[in-house]
Amino acid sequence: MFIDLHMHSTASDGTDAPAELARIAAELGLSAIALTDHDTTAGLSECAAACEREGITFVPGIELSCERGQERGTLHMLGYFVDPASEPLQRIAAEQIEARDTRNPQIIERLNRLGVDITLEDVRQQAGDGVIGRPHIAAVLMSRGYAKSMQDAFNRYIGYGAPAYVRKDRLPAGRAIDAVHAAGGLAVLAHPVQLKAADAADLQQVITDLIKLGLDGIEVWHSDHTPADVEQFRRLAERFELLMTGGSDYHGRRKDVAMGSQRVPGSVLEELTAAHERHQHAPGKPGG
Ligand code: AMP
Ligand code: ZN
Ligand code: FE
Ligand code: FE
Repeated sequence: MFIDLHMHSTASDGTDAPAELARIAAELGLSAIALTDHDTTAGLSECAAACEREGITFVPGIELSCERGQERGTLHMLGYFVDPASEPLQRIAAEQIEARDTRNPQIIERLNRLGVDITLEDVRQQAGDGVIGRPHIAAVLMSRGYAKSMQDAFNRYIGYGAPAYVRKDRLPAGRAIDAVHAAGGLAVLAHPVQLKAADAADLQQVITDLIKLGLDGIEVWHSDHTPADVEQFRRLAERFELLMTGGSDYHGRRKDVAMGSQRVPGSVLEELTAAHERHQHAPGKPGG
């Protein structure tokens, strides 16, 4: 049986409601899913209830964008088995949403200066109740004919290095890891390929630095990873005794990846669950 431990709902920038994700997972025959919305746990309870109805194991998650510490690349931290009631986690989430509230008008202002006639209200409508992300802005750019595709919108307007790009990610990775641990969760480095490490030594440096900060695992399988990447990250996980996770990063219509497409084996969740239980029973340990 396969699982998928990385996906987004309408609570952030996915296009499927949390309950709908459970329904799709059941249709695909997945045995477990994790919901990992950007900066919010708002979709977790709905998804958990729907998974229970569908007979699917549910892992409550979150994805936090962290400071990369370098101009290039992005560093995203996944939290698994997080307790949404955790105060430190909610504080970080609120701070991240505040950072978005500061950034979004700045992006719109830059777009307007470039002659792109869209408003923050257009973006809010696109996002509905979800945490606003750049994919929502890209969707508005597409619907108004300013971009041919999501990729085109990022390349020409809002992606890193494009004229309307505004940096947001100021959260130190150590704070994200601590918040995930305080919420009883395990901290996993998302899609390491997106770090854009210069070479294998640089990658190893980033990962060993994160391990010192308490990192529990790395995402080995991801839609952006080539088979060679998967092999490299699997070896790194083995070498540094990190947990391995994997998922599609499904965003519904907003991204060209299918749920379940990474064909992550169920044994991955068994190991993750066992580690979570170990941490819970070890006071003072990460996740405890
Ligand atoms: P945000 O959290 O608002 O910075 O937006 C992050 C989201 O934008 C992620 O879910 C990515 O899938 C998407 N994204 C970031 N960079 C790109 C890119 N160059 N092309 C397409 N999607 C991107
Ligand atoms: Zn996203
Ligand atoms: Fe991510
Ligand atoms: Fe993601």
